[in-house]
Amino acid sequence: MTTEVQFHNRIVESLQAHPNLTKQPRQVLGAAYSRVEPTPVAAPKLVAYSKEVGDILGFSQAYLDSEEFVQTFSGNNLLDGMDPYAMVYGGHQFGNWAGQLGDGRAINLGELVNPSGEHWTLQLKGSGMTPFSRTADGLAVLRSSIREFLCSEAMFHLGVPTTRALSLVTTGEKVVRDMFYNGNPQPENGAIVCRVAPSFVRFGNFQIFAARQDSENLKKLVDHTITADFPHLGDPSKETYIKWFHEISRRTAEMIIHWMRVGFVHGVMNTDNMSILGLTIDYGPYGWLEDYNPNWTPNTTDAQHKRYRFGNQPHIGMWNLVQLANALVPLIEDVEPLQAGIDLYGEVFGTNYSAMMAQKLGLQTYVAETDEPLLQELQRVLMLTETDYIIFFRKLADLAVSEGADERSDDEWLAPVLDAYYLPEQLELGIKADVASWLKAYAARIQADGRSDAERKSAMNQVNPKYVLRNYMAQVAIDAADEGDNSVVSELLELLRQPYDEQPNMEKWAAKRPDWARSRPGCSMLSCSS
Ligand code: AMP
Ligand code: MG
Repeated sequence: MTTEVQFHNRIVESLQAHPNLTKQPRQVLGAAYSRVEPTPVAAPKLVAYSKEVGDILGFSQAYLDSEEFVQTFSGNNLLDGMDPYAMVYGGHQFGNWAGQLGDGRAINLGELVNPSGEHWTLQLKGSGMTPFSRTADGLAVLRSSIREFLCSEAMFHLGVPTTRALSLVTTGEKVVRDMFYNGNPQPENGAIVCRVAPSFVRFGNFQIFAARQDSENLKKLVDHTITADFPHLGDPSKETYIKWFHEISRRTAEMIIHWMRVGFVHGVMNTDNMSILGLTIDYGPYGWLEDYNPNWTPNTTDAQHKRYRFGNQPHIGMWNLVQLANALVPLIEDVEPLQAGIDLYGEVFGTNYSAMMAQKLGLQTYVAETDEPLLQELQRVLMLTETDYIIFFRKLADLAVSEGADERSDDEWLAPVLDAYYLPEQLELGIKADVASWLKAYAARIQADGRSDAERKSAMNQVNPKYVLRNYMAQVAIDAADEGDNSVVSELLELLRQPYDEQPNMEKWAAKRPDWARSRPGCSMLSCSS
């Protein structure tokens, strides 16, 4: 089985390569990338592929099911036209400049041109050392690869801008990891995900050139990015650079608003993990809000300061844009338009976040005077006792309001959303009264808005998912796959293709986090070693 695909490796063509072809970890100066081939693996086996991503790339069913596919996306076999490379980038990690980072465990195979003429970069994650591997091994384990594979596909189907995942294979080799950083390293199954995106360029790719005062490579990368990924902005010029920065601000705001809508916490919003296209990228110690708590982060490495907690993501988006703006100063030579781009982020965020929250409530329009206090009170009410963020909004759509004010008791008001409470026994009278009183205010607002219950429910169910990749769900898939059973990975992949549909025989995955998962590592707490 062979496949005919076209590659046009624009990054390789337009940007500076480093002449040193060894994998020796080092500072790669004066270049945007370094050519490096994936390290062959012993016994690759397919765990799963995404049919939709295969379709985008123009892969036939027969090819997806072939041995050549497994060999290629485990790094054992290069297709004609592939020209693998790892990119140089830097970044601010947890607020501090960290210098050169780079594709330490990612290798770009090339840019595939699909039958519609779109360019899609194929990138293996976990296929061995590159010059950017520093002291690490360039490898990935099955547990973190399942998390990345499932989550990126789930996010896509939720309507959140994201990189995609084509395939997940095990390598047949063991990788040693100290999962808890407690001096107890264990061998784990090695794995490789093939990620797919129009571009994997990050804020940090620009930052590293600015930090090294390498204006020539900085300009080349900016010009290339605009030409390849933002052609609608026109030919590169100072004016275009400004328009481009403004568009990145807008896209970053939109992406984070989606995260807030679906309860996603990225966990490591370092500037090297911020895509220049406004895509969610690098699924490491991410997590999903279960009980609503804006202070929650899944990342144990960030447990002390909680810099990347759910409720701080909007602020960090702006902080990261400031770092990108700083990197662009040498090109634009004027801070004012860059500042305007940062301000634009604030404006877009403010307006669109409110509109998004109004949609979650099923309102046709957001009216600041009435809805700002309604949302603030909702935030307070959601935190009175452990309340599931996803279930609350999904069930809120079932609240009947068009009958008008009636004689419902507090218990009757709460009945539709009762499922959302983790500890219903903690719903003492005071809390019930507060929730009921919010629900009454909400009902009054909906009546004023003039939508029927059925219309409102249908609109709400398109923005409030029923199924997300709850933290424990990935762990259930991982536990099975570690024993050689990939069926849960397949089941979740299939489930999460339709996160807004009811799927009655899948109800168990719409339930609250089970008690056993409350404090199990991997289910609500993860470290960067994932
Ligand atoms: P991350 O925290 O995954 O975003 O990674 C930060 C930096 O560490 C990036 O430069 C990665 O390429 C690098 N890195 C993470 N894990 C590994 C690994 N196992 N081997 C080599 N480099 C790695
Ligand atoms: Mg990263």
